[in-house]
Amino acid sequence: MPRGYCVKCGRQDKSKGMKEIKSPQKTTTSKGKAMIKGKCPDCGTTVCTFKVD
Ligand SMILES: [Zn+2]
Repeated sequence: MPRGYCVKCGRQDKSKGMKEIKSPQKTTTSKGKAMIKGKCPDCGTTVCTFKVD
């Protein structure tokens, strides 16, 4: 499961900002870089992370 940083959860406690991304979907930035976009499992905020592999 890809992980990303949720700014909303991280705002309250930085150590809790790192989340497993719920229902991740591959997407591409305007510059053609692969990204994964999904939802924070706790608050539902959109979370994005750059694909590592
Ligand atoms: Zn969150």
